[in-house]
Amino acid sequence: LVRGLEALKDLPCETLDKHRISLWVNTGLMADVMRSLERGAEGVGLYRTEVPFLLRDRFPSEEEQRQIYREQLKAFHPHPVTMRTLDVGGDKALPYFPIEEANPFLGWRGIRVTLDHPEIFLAQVRAMLKASEKLDNLRIMLPMISSIAELEAAQVLIYRAYHELLEEGFQITLPPIGVMIEVPAAVYQARELAARVDFLSVGSNDLTQYLLAVDRNNARVADLYESLHPAVLRALSDIVSQAHMEGTPVSICGELAGDPGAAMLLVAMGYDVLSMSATNLPKVKSALRAVTLEDAETLLERVKAMPDASGVNHCVQEALRAAG
Ligand code: PEP
Ligand code: MG
Repeated sequence: LVRGLEALKDLPCETLDKHRISLWVNTGLMADVMRSLERGAEGVGLYRTEVPFLLRDRFPSEEEQRQIYREQLKAFHPHPVTMRTLDVGGDKALPYFPIEEANPFLGWRGIRVTLDHPEIFLAQVRAMLKASEKLDNLRIMLPMISSIAELEAAQVLIYRAYHELLEEGFQITLPPIGVMIEVPAAVYQARELAARVDFLSVGSNDLTQYLLAVDRNNARVADLYESLHPAVLRALSDIVSQAHMEGTPVSICGELAGDPGAAMLLVAMGYDVLSMSATNLPKVKSALRAVTLEDAETLLERVKAMPDASGVNHCVQEALRAAG
């Protein structure tokens, strides 16, 4: 197995007919970085900055953050590292920043928290920008965006941090800025969002939860959390079409990207980057290397005719078996 992984690491992720797909990874801890590099990751599609915040008993200072972020950026350089601004609330609670709510997933989480606390957001963005000095492989991504106004407010803060740092003498460049599409409202405004940013990235974990109204962590309704529900697939496909109309690249960084069958569908839909946990990268790469783009497109057409998730799952399993 180890030798197999070793051999796969340096092979490109491309279909049999040479359609190239970028496979990136999701990270949080430094341990993820090592695993990712061993498996030949070409970038980081989601660095969950909550992780260093969770490992402390207080907010890390700007300088502490700068050091942690610089390690990530250096480890992957020259590959891009997509840093998500703090995404707390919902299922991610900081012990030293309690949020008590009846409906945490519909409450104060992600960008909503940091726009209400610009000092937290600015310290984090300043730390990211300083960390990127002379490396220039940083990308900044905003979680839980549900309106253009939220995006614009966040952009104003990022530009402000950038200009302050230029005045302070830092040699930095303005990084690409992107938004996560993980709220149904953002699916319906994907084109308007895409026109204002450098990339979109789908958070399929939350998007599935919100589209199906199924708590992603509730065991009682776990069998209703159908990742390949036709409504989810339609949303995923629409996001790509909308974004590409604006010439904006789209990635996906939810768990779905790490599933070989789903990866075939995502490639057929036109996703530019699949970002997954490093553990899943080799099996997704082998699956994609075993099919043609046309195979994937045929599968997507078949799947689109299915009225429910079990029909979709059946088609996908069959396609995977056929690909060996
Ligand atoms: C997602 O929602 O799909 C996602 C990638 O973010 P998280 O799982 O951290 O909420
Ligand atoms: Mg999410």
